[in-house]
Amino acid sequence: MSERYKDLHLQPLAGEWRQGSGEREVTVIDPYQQTELLKITLANREDLDAAYQRAQAVQPEWAAKPPAERAALMHRVVALFDERKDEIIDWLVRESGSTRVKANIEWGAARAITLEAASMPSRVHGMTLTSDIPGKENRVYRKPLGVVGVISPWNFPLHLSQRSIAPAIALGNAVVVKPASDTPVTGGLLLARLFDEAGLPNGVLSVVVGSGSEIGDAFVEHAVPSLISFTGSTPVGRRIGGICSGGEHIKQVALELGGNSPFVVLDDADVDQAVNASLAGKFLHQGQICMAINRIIVHERLYDDFVSRFVERAKTLKYGDPAAEGIVIGPIINAKQREGLEAKIAKAREEGATVLLDGEIQGQVVPPHVFGDVTPAMDISREEIFGPLVGIQKARDEAHALELANDTQYGLSSAVFSGDLDRGLRFAQGIRAGMVHVNDMPVNDEPNVPFGGEKNSGLGRFNGEWAIEEFTTDQWISVQHQARQYPF
Ligand code: NAD
Repeated sequence: MSERYKDLHLQPLAGEWRQGSGEREVTVIDPYQQTELLKITLANREDLDAAYQRAQAVQPEWAAKPPAERAALMHRVVALFDERKDEIIDWLVRESGSTRVKANIEWGAARAITLEAASMPSRVHGMTLTSDIPGKENRVYRKPLGVVGVISPWNFPLHLSQRSIAPAIALGNAVVVKPASDTPVTGGLLLARLFDEAGLPNGVLSVVVGSGSEIGDAFVEHAVPSLISFTGSTPVGRRIGGICSGGEHIKQVALELGGNSPFVVLDDADVDQAVNASLAGKFLHQGQICMAINRIIVHERLYDDFVSRFVERAKTLKYGDPAAEGIVIGPIINAKQREGLEAKIAKAREEGATVLLDGEIQGQVVPPHVFGDVTPAMDISREEIFGPLVGIQKARDEAHALELANDTQYGLSSAVFSGDLDRGLRFAQGIRAGMVHVNDMPVNDEPNVPFGGEKNSGLGRFNGEWAIEEFTTDQWISVQHQARQYPF
């Protein structure tokens, strides 16, 4: 590992790589080996305040740089993604328990949004509008928001931090990031090294490693940030949204929250292809993805066929050491999450779901579990699973399948399989979710398309022009060219 990437126990706080000033340390663990990777002294509220103040101080100068200069910085970060690829993949495997396949996908997604962000500085535009007032000219200027606070989860830490950091910085904002405690390196520190090496001015990006319960509220309530971009669970998102809209300092909020993706197989679907898609959409990153399949809904005519082929294939998935070639299911991130999955397995049995596939939990590795004859009322249908378990439901017909698909408080991603693309499209339009994929799995993200959810899955959209909208604000400036006549 190169020198620059060694001292990752330090945090870039207010323009300086140093230790946090908090009293506690977080020990970053390899979730498979259960070995210590490093210890980080947590940041406290003073560190947080210093990071925000410094971000506010340096942001105008950064925003004033020519668009080409901000774009060039993004291109240098992209080049560093390539140069440092092995280090990044290695950290994703060790810190977040990513299999090699998932780590490569995540590296690719984070690189792609950085490249997309490089195009953003020159895509921002304002407009002039007509006026009914004689002699007036209306202009709309599009400006950076100022300082953006980013909070990210542990499951796709590199990408889910970078999809806010890269557009925000490219568009002239300064950023303070709070990564999840399980993944401070891949969720922030490693990215900050890349930006540092690429030449981002000191203080434009700070990373604050601290626990959500200790500095979370202060991070959100602070007077400096104009936007909190949060990706994580619905309960925490609800709290953050409340503080942003009802706290002392009102600010914008982007919420990318939990999901409960349905995967629907209609009676004219290609069963083999549907099985291929559902295995990938369920078991990638051991199911710890917001878009992962949570419920499989199959037309009753294909149910037995689908179930037998799905279970046969699921049995063959290799689980264990994520660093080993060919492993599909690696470890669950931490003991709390694993215990939650054990409880969900026990509950599914208790509620009468048919066990189609199970296996012994080894350390943090949970083998694939498949349940049949699942009803919409069972917990396994209602709750976000976030693990390698799935329940299969039977639908009487297309209308029933749609009713089952929409029977959730969430609306992030979803998928439908049909042999008739027009029918698939019609069905997709009936699903209340931000994203629907016809004849594919629900786990999809591309840097130029709108990513986001409906209902309790959140507010706002990432990527492409939607990110430009999210990380900038409009200012109406009117210019009165000739003396105006007033009514009194
Ligand atoms: P989480 O909500 O527990 O934590 C997310 C982040 O919020 C972490 O950095 C955590 O430290 C921080 N946090 C916790 N309490 C806080 C508080 N009171 N104030 C401020 N910050 C606080 O979620 P998680 O367990 O890390 O991630 C899994 C969840 O994230 C799942 O529900 C998943 O669906 C969701 N997720 C959503 C998307 C999406 O794009 N919609 C993507 C990935 C994950």
